[in-house]
Amino acid sequence: MAGMLYLVPTPIGNLGDISIRCRQTLEQADFIAAEDTRVTLKLLNHLGLKKSLVSYYEHNKAAKGNVILDRILAGEVCALVSDAGSPAISDPGEDLVKQCAEAGVTVCAIPGPCAVITALSISRQSTGCFCFEGFLSTAKKSRREHLESLTNETRTMIFYEAPHKLLSTLEDMAKAFGPDRPISLCRELTKLHEEVVRTTLGQAIEKYAAQPPKGEFVLVIAGAPEREKEAATADDAAAHVQALMDQGLSRKDAIRQTAKDLDLPKNIVYDAALKI
Ligand code: SAM
Repeated sequence: MAGMLYLVPTPIGNLGDISIRCRQTLEQADFIAAEDTRVTLKLLNHLGLKKSLVSYYEHNKAAKGNVILDRILAGEVCALVSDAGSPAISDPGEDLVKQCAEAGVTVCAIPGPCAVITALSISRQSTGCFCFEGFLSTAKKSRREHLESLTNETRTMIFYEAPHKLLSTLEDMAKAFGPDRPISLCRELTKLHEEVVRTTLGQAIEKYAAQPPKGEFVLVIAGAPEREKEAATADDAAAHVQALMDQGLSRKDAIRQTAKDLDLPKNIVYDAALKI
């Protein structure tokens, strides 16, 4: 029988968030690959399960990835779990998925707790279009370059951050996006002391400078305001009509096409075309 890899999401704080399907998958898997075996043991005890565990984390992933893949290729079913949340999102699971996919192994993701989606849903920032940026680098230069590349980003931006780096991250973000940019700081999600602070970057800096942050954070930041579309001028319209006529379009068709391309009323384009 062919082996396969299951990605099993685990609670990000509230043990009640484990699903029936996740429990069944953990129970039926031949072995579990876990980012932190102590954390996973606690979960398995809570579920009353005894399973064979293999540790798979950032600093052993290269060697252990091959061992896990060999076992799957030999027909075993592996359930991958991270410390908390959905495996492969900002954790080493991403590499195991790549390795398995490249080897033709079936990878099945079970939906469940994920910090980025939980935070976005309650942030009150726009959810229609968003980009997930994960953790910023700890290296100053690449961190600054990363943030600078996002200054004109209009989608809602989501970052993961640890409490001890929060203040310096907020300061770097305020430099890149301005102190008035709205931010929702989501902390201790699904836990007893879950908190969402909906504020601006400047005010968040004041708050956490006065009161050191505790717990893991997801930062949800409003995108840059859309720039007003610069209205096309009569000269633009005339040049566009001319260019289309040069390509062989009749004057009438060029005017119709220009009005469409530049989002202008046809009579304005017609008047502009009279100057040609
Ligand atoms: N793969 C997991 C996921 O996407 O759900 C996340 C793994 S990542 C190594 C851990 C980060 O997720 C934390 O540093 C924090 O930013 C965020 N996180 C996890 N649990 C959280 C919680 N209960 N409340 C707020 N943020 C959390």
